[in-house]
Amino acid sequence: MSLRLRLTLLFTTLLGGMLLIFGSLVYGVVSLVLYYQLDNHLSASATQLIDLLRLNTSNEYDVRLLANFQSSENLFYQVYGPGQDLQLAHPGSMDAVLDPVGRASGEPLFTSQVVEGRHLRVLSVPLRTERGPAGMLQVAESLTSIDAAQNVLARTLIILAVVTLVIFGIIIWQMTGQALAPLAAVTETARQISRAADLQRRIPMRGSANDEVGSLVEAFNKTLERMEVLFNSQKRFLTDVSHELRTPLTVIKGNIGLLRQQGVTDEESLSSTEQEVDRLTRLVGDLLFLAQAETGSMPLAMLPVELDTVLLEVFQQMSMLAGDKLVMKITEIDQIQVKGDRDRLKQVLVNLLGNAIQYTPAGGEVRIALRKVGSQAQLSITDTGPGIPPEDLPHIFERFYRGEKSRRRSQGSGFGLGLSIAFWIVRNHGGSIEADSREGAGSTFCVWLPLLAV
Ligand code: ADP
Repeated sequence: MSLRLRLTLLFTTLLGGMLLIFGSLVYGVVSLVLYYQLDNHLSASATQLIDLLRLNTSNEYDVRLLANFQSSENLFYQVYGPGQDLQLAHPGSMDAVLDPVGRASGEPLFTSQVVEGRHLRVLSVPLRTERGPAGMLQVAESLTSIDAAQNVLARTLIILAVVTLVIFGIIIWQMTGQALAPLAAVTETARQISRAADLQRRIPMRGSANDEVGSLVEAFNKTLERMEVLFNSQKRFLTDVSHELRTPLTVIKGNIGLLRQQGVTDEESLSSTEQEVDRLTRLVGDLLFLAQAETGSMPLAMLPVELDTVLLEVFQQMSMLAGDKLVMKITEIDQIQVKGDRDRLKQVLVNLLGNAIQYTPAGGEVRIALRKVGSQAQLSITDTGPGIPPEDLPHIFERFYRGEKSRRRSQGSGFGLGLSIAFWIVRNHGGSIEADSREGAGSTFCVWLPLLAV
């Protein structure tokens, strides 16, 4: 979930909670006031009714006098004798007990009841004479108008709360969007920088440099600046050293030839020295190549190339190199043209096939396929070698990265540059390269290149 959505949800939920508390308070207070007024009115009516009651000779209330009572339309009342028998009901049609619990209680009691489908507020008042309990008076008024008021109030509060929440949510969504927009710009620029490996780019400073986002942009730009300086000096160092090493290596190689001509007899030392010089020469060549590729100054002769022909050429050369050690076969080969530098593309194939041959043990198999997939050419090289451990897999295209096992191998193996070179060549051809491998289950390297548009 995005930060923007999380903040919006958080604030809206907080406001929702506050509105719920506030709304419940308003509803509660209004209901209380309405009930209070109604209860007061019921008490007043009960007092008036009791005032009208007179005791007859047999110490019973004479209910006939109540006929003089000017009752409001909304008022219901019932008088019960000491034996809880109904003596008078007003209106006469309503003879159901208004509140059975209140009738039995010895204290005045307010309750809300539903009687014959009417929602009523009932007050039960015990009647007493000097000689003891003399019955019960119940007065009631309809709660319809209070119910309606409560209903309207609840609906209004809910609608208001929902509308407020929606408006508030939209405002928060917009505001967080605005506040986070510079962060999105920072992220996008950082992504572009890593995608294009272009450390020259900087994140544009929008707004003030003193706020949190401004400080972040400034710090990030400073880091980029520092990285650019370091990276450039490293590249310069690499290029200079490779250049410097070339000459002495050529001289040593020449001298070895000279020593041979002069009849130096220790042939074993001579050829071992010569092998090491060749290895160093390859390393220097690779380093120079990478330095050029990384500075963007790798010259590429971009011409139409028949990839299938290049593959067959490399296949023949590498089959000779593999000899009887393993089986190499092309399982599929489509006619494919791409735009690129023939020699460089060949180098990619040599590096990948070279690795497959090198890492696959005797008796293994290397399968090669070249096919069209949509507007791309897909070259896959699958071997039955030891595979690449998961901890090595994300790093194998890095410069000088060699798997743990390869590092432990005797000298004479590569320097961990072959795949970096392949990576750079493919990338500078607008393609991509990926490796899929499981330890003990072989590896597959896949190269994707855009087909030549006809
Ligand atoms: P190296 O000179 O060590 O072969 P690379 O850049 O060509 O350097 O390869 C980097 C690392 O990737 C190797 O050290 C090895 O651990 C691993 N690797 C590359 N290709 C294969 C393969 N076909 N099978 C197993 N491991 C491989």
